[in-house]
Amino acid sequence: MEAGGTKFVCAVGTGPDDIRARVRIPTTTPDETLASVVSFFRAQREAVSAVGIGAFGPLDLAPASPTFGFITSTPKPGWSQCDIAGRLRTALGARVTIDTDVNAAAIAEHRWGAARGAGTVLYMTIGTGIGGGVLVNGAPLHGMLHPEIGHMPVPQDRVADPYPGRCPYHGACLEGLASGPAVHERWGQPGETLPVDHAAWALEARYLALALASCIYTLSPERIVLGGGVMQQRGLFPLVRREVQALLNGYIRAASVETDIDGYIVAPGLGVDAGMLGALALAMDLTAS
Ligand code: ADP
Ligand code: ZN
Repeated sequence: MEAGGTKFVCAVGTGPDDIRARVRIPTTTPDETLASVVSFFRAQREAVSAVGIGAFGPLDLAPASPTFGFITSTPKPGWSQCDIAGRLRTALGARVTIDTDVNAAAIAEHRWGAARGAGTVLYMTIGTGIGGGVLVNGAPLHGMLHPEIGHMPVPQDRVADPYPGRCPYHGACLEGLASGPAVHERWGQPGETLPVDHAAWALEARYLALALASCIYTLSPERIVLGGGVMQQRGLFPLVRREVQALLNGYIRAASVETDIDGYIVAPGLGVDAGMLGALALAMDLTAS
């Protein structure tokens, strides 16, 4: 189950080539949304043995915590302190595991998609929000909580770009400056209606590249996958790649960056299914353990 702010996508199967059923449920209240989820899984011919959840957050992923598997402090009405994993476990009598939507997407891209063969992976989504998932040697990074790459501070030239940013916590963090709604608000129209040669895209590429340079320096990812609605803008990938190379300025001596940047910063191989398939991968790992 991919639990998103606008929709939940639930599917049953064993991998990308074996999806036996799927459903898309609009995100409303937890009661209503989770009731639809439970009836979908209960309606399956074969009993569902394990459920993986890739969820929007922030999440409590500390196994020893009394609120493990909860969505914690989200501003999304009704969802704060929602025990999403526990409620499914109780209702379905199945094993349930949970990770962030972006860690799940990173897992799926690593197993089946554009990050195959790379042990240390950064997956970023640039959509309604910005989020990043990280795999270290194939395993999702949690650490203290879980990475919150979307809220990374990025340098802003307030003369060239006076837009104040829209993050409720930080104003002009990466998400505040470069999410889809930030593009919309800054330029007065949604990204999908801005022409390819609009100044919006060079600025967008600049912010994304600043964040990616920080991630490259701190995490040393072997591949970077960029998903989300904003990356549908054709022309953004080449701009981001060029800007990343310019920012690194020859310091990172690796072929991926120096000569194979097209194969280093890539689109998701699994398209919009990366999150759902990552949740499925989590469930498959539970059945194997
Ligand atoms: P969510 O983050 O809610 O899952 P998406 O990843 O689809 O949703 O992102 C939605 C955002 O992407 C919106 O802000 C929208 O304006 C923007 N967007 C969608 N298509 C494009 C496009 N072709 N070019 C630029 N921005 C786009
Ligand atoms: Zn922020």
